Amino acid sequence: MTNESWGHIREELISSVGKNNYTNWIEPLEFSDLEDGVATFYVPTQFMGNWVSRNFGDKILNQLQKAGQDVARIEFSVPSTRRVRVEDAPKKTQAAAQPSRNDADLPGAPLDARFTFDTFVVGKPNELAHAAARRVAEGGTVTFNPLFLYGGVGLGKTHLMHAIAWELQKRSPGLRVVYLSAEQFMYRFVQALREKDMIAFKQLFRAVDVLMVDDVQFIAGKDATQEEFFHTFNALVDQNKQIIVSSDRAPNEIPGIEDRIVSRLQSGLVVDLHPTNYELRLGILQQKVEQYSNQFRDLEIQDGVLEFLAHRISTNVRVLEGALMRLFAFGALVGREITLELTQDCLADVLRASDRKITVEEIQRKVSDHYNIRLSDLIGPKRVRTFARPRQIAMFLSKQLTSRSLPEIGRRFGGRDHTTVMHGVRRIEELRAQDSQIAEDLELLRRSLEA
Ligand code: ADP
Ligand code: MG
Repeated sequence: MTNESWGHIREELISSVGKNNYTNWIEPLEFSDLEDGVATFYVPTQFMGNWVSRNFGDKILNQLQKAGQDVARIEFSVPSTRRVRVEDAPKKTQAAAQPSRNDADLPGAPLDARFTFDTFVVGKPNELAHAAARRVAEGGTVTFNPLFLYGGVGLGKTHLMHAIAWELQKRSPGLRVVYLSAEQFMYRFVQALREKDMIAFKQLFRAVDVLMVDDVQFIAGKDATQEEFFHTFNALVDQNKQIIVSSDRAPNEIPGIEDRIVSRLQSGLVVDLHPTNYELRLGILQQKVEQYSNQFRDLEIQDGVLEFLAHRISTNVRVLEGALMRLFAFGALVGREITLELTQDCLADVLRASDRKITVEEIQRKVSDHYNIRLSDLIGPKRVRTFARPRQIAMFLSKQLTSRSLPEIGRRFGGRDHTTVMHGVRRIEELRAQDSQIAEDLELLRRSLEA
């Protein structure tokens, strides 16, 4: 293979990795040589080698093989340093959840080493959940059983559960702490049924000291699994063993779960993780920068970048984290300070996606709150200035912050015509330039909607 033929082969990757990834990660790879089934590429930095191998290694290898190259492995080499082998790529740090005793027999899933209390940032939206988790992690007398944690995706439920498990094991190494997802519970259960090994299954789960079942909503509608979960649950509660359960919603809001299970789940302490606020998001970003500062030692982040991200990405922490990691990777690749401009470039798609989230209804609510008028008056037919101006502002923001068309916006404002919306939007555009109070209101509203 030559660098030129690699040039053709790599183009086939555009469709599977996407144009952006292709430009950022694949194009800069320079083919070096192919020997004994090992294809080597030059990369500018070791970080980039690791990144590419972790994220695109398999795809590149497949593509080479498809193109008829006799390749069994790929390696990345930074000119004049040691080679980075695909196998060297840092893997997600994981460690076994099980304590020293009966290791092999316990049915749990591995714990993520990054999910500890140390790395969990506490803010208003999660302080109750955090406090409850801390309490359970102290061990000792069981005060509430189960602890039921719920909240939207990416808000830290799994993180907290792992943190409890780590802490419990640190305090009492002999404790049999089992963490698993409801899906894994079902899988184990079905397997036991198939292998006609229910007795062993029951013994296994009844022998644990602390049982954590993540994403319990998964067993909704799966009757036999629910039944078994219920029995396991009761058996453990009877023995005064701590149970911790998580779900994406409150117990009574999970459709397809039996009433008796709902009431069991509600019988302990039910706490929810609220959607993040700006301060929490900023705190998490700062903590992540700290956490990764070793790995990205030379990286500089311009003032205001983290604030910008905390502001703009409000969907969930996982997305926020992903954005930051991508930014780091990009910064390391281009080898310069991460500026606001670079951030906007690098994260254009994420930023767009999180913008789309704002709805006309939210805007209407915010605006009517802001001007202290009723929602029905904002949307309704009255044309007095006290209602008409806020209405136009809400229309303007709907046009700016959502992807709705003028007719769609009109429909949401009491079935108004799109020309009325257009007129309103134009009017506010004019006023914004003349009236500093309106300009300020708009800025304030926009910020609070995007927060
Ligand atoms: P869930 O299980 O609620 O969907 P996770 O626990 O998997 O969410 O969290 C998603 C990601 O966000 C994880 O990487 C987690 O470490 C991170 N995360 C969530 N909340 C926090 C927090 N308060 N502090 C630090 N990291 C957080
Ligand atoms: Mg989770």
